[in-house]
Amino acid sequence: MNPIFALIDCNSFFVSCEKVFQPHLEGQPVIVLSSNDGCAIARSNEAKALGIQMGAPLFKIQNILRKNRVKVFSSNFSLYGDMSARVMETLKTFSPSLEVYSIDEAFLDLSSLREEELFSYGSQIRKIVKLWTGIPVSIGMGSTKTLAKVANHIAKKHPFGCYVLTKLEDIEEVLRTFPLQEVWGIGRQWSKKLSYVGLRTAWDLAQADIDWIRKTFNLSLARTALELKGLPCSNIEGLVSSKKSIISSRSFGKSVKSFEDLQEAISFHASKVAQKLRQQKSVTALLNVFIRTNPFHAEGAYYTNSCIVPLIFPSQDTAVLIKAARAGLEKIFNKGLDYKKVGVMALSLASEDQIPVSIFQNSKDLLKRQTLLKTLDKLNGQFGRDSLFFASEGVHKTWCSKVSLKSPSFTQDWTQLPRVR
Ligand SMILES: [Mg+2]
Repeated sequence: MNPIFALIDCNSFFVSCEKVFQPHLEGQPVIVLSSNDGCAIARSNEAKALGIQMGAPLFKIQNILRKNRVKVFSSNFSLYGDMSARVMETLKTFSPSLEVYSIDEAFLDLSSLREEELFSYGSQIRKIVKLWTGIPVSIGMGSTKTLAKVANHIAKKHPFGCYVLTKLEDIEEVLRTFPLQEVWGIGRQWSKKLSYVGLRTAWDLAQADIDWIRKTFNLSLARTALELKGLPCSNIEGLVSSKKSIISSRSFGKSVKSFEDLQEAISFHASKVAQKLRQQKSVTALLNVFIRTNPFHAEGAYYTNSCIVPLIFPSQDTAVLIKAARAGLEKIFNKGLDYKKVGVMALSLASEDQIPVSIFQNSKDLLKRQTLLKTLDKLNGQFGRDSLFFASEGVHKTWCSKVSLKSPSFTQDWTQLPRVR
């Protein structure tokens, strides 16, 4: 049985999510902005055709946007997260092995299929994902993950949206004109280095001597070369294992001066970290709290500082984390500065059932707290994120990032469900 990997990639994912709930956007130029509305991070085909580049700063493209009536959205990450989960759930029905690679990409193991079945199976996956979630996807298949990625590039430009790259003569023809920079894991910096030694296309790398590559460069490049030759060096990696550290941080929409506002923001991030800890069934023994001013601001010196706060008992309790994070903030706060970013990071994680109960902790109280937090998570899961939150996170959250052009919370708020007239 020859290994077959399929890479499924959602087309213009963030824009596609917006289109699912606002069908009138179909055929129109649409872009989605990064947090704080800084630059374009997703573009519809119509927007790409206007010459709007990936990562273009908003202020530089204002003219094009106005002239062509481009629809502009702030990023709505909770919507994209929910839509991503729907796509991945759907993909799971097509193979027992799924690897979620990013918010809009996943690998499937299709080794059990015969070669002549691959294209029609891929077309079927595209059809069902579009039907069940509304999201269009492109599918590339190959005998290694790297070749599946290459095939996906072609699928994106192909009218069928699915491309199978398994025949040796096809592989050679495609790789001969495939720029190294586009190969998975290589990028611009490396492709520049490799061009000095005469390697310019994916085919050049696939033909190069593996030992020489490993000695001259590194093992990971040698693995890429092997994968381009059709020899798999990595497999489908089921579910991502628990994270070793957890972070929550964000830039402010406008700079923040007041200690009270920073306290709210820090509490908000501590609460998010606690929630993520409970989700992956971990506890933390160490928090890192950090703040910084704007490094690009002309006036005033740049200030950045952080503080490690050890917890007496490893915890996943929101109240405990908020208290510790606030204590950390007090130590690093400097009055009179314009702060641009704060965050909280949980380090030294352990599994929640590896923690011995201390004799200084009342196990009855602990159980009560656990039940309370479980209820909190359950209610927020049922009625939408942040339906219930700790008052110290602030009610109005004036320090929140600017999301002036955000679409409604179509998937999380009953009052914002799309209307059908
Ligand atoms: Mg994509």
